[in-house]
Amino acid sequence: MSDTLFTKIINRQIPADIVYEDEHCFAIRDINPQAPVHLLLIPKKPIDRLSAAEAGDQALLGHLMLAVGKITRDLKIDNAFRLAINNGADAGQSVFHLHLHILAGRAFSWPPG
Ligand code: 5GP
Repeated sequence: MSDTLFTKIINRQIPADIVYEDEHCFAIRDINPQAPVHLLLIPKKPIDRLSAAEAGDQALLGHLMLAVGKITRDLKIDNAFRLAINNGADAGQSVFHLHLHILAGRAFSWPPG
């Protein structure tokens, strides 16, 4: 299977602004930000989409949630942020390597568009 865009970024084959990295995941600034802060939190394991995650990914998914807490505290946006996962093309997914959008720095409406 060929590397995904995000695998190429973490392998430093494609440049990106990496704001966080640990053993299991990394976060970059989105190239087309939809808010003053727009990060993508990405597992190093290239899971295609959230619905493709398996029981063996339970710890990794929990790790991602705890990383959101750490990253947002470090950036002092933990008081208000929006977390989004687009699962499938019809939901807006364009890169088929699981990623969590972390958006902050403006007000967000509900329901989302
Ligand atoms: P999706 O649409 O799959 O939920 O989110 C993919 C995100 O990746 C989009 O918000 C898009 O702007 C971002 N993106 C696409 N290509 C690049 C890139 O080369 N670098 C970075 N930093 N973000 C990218």
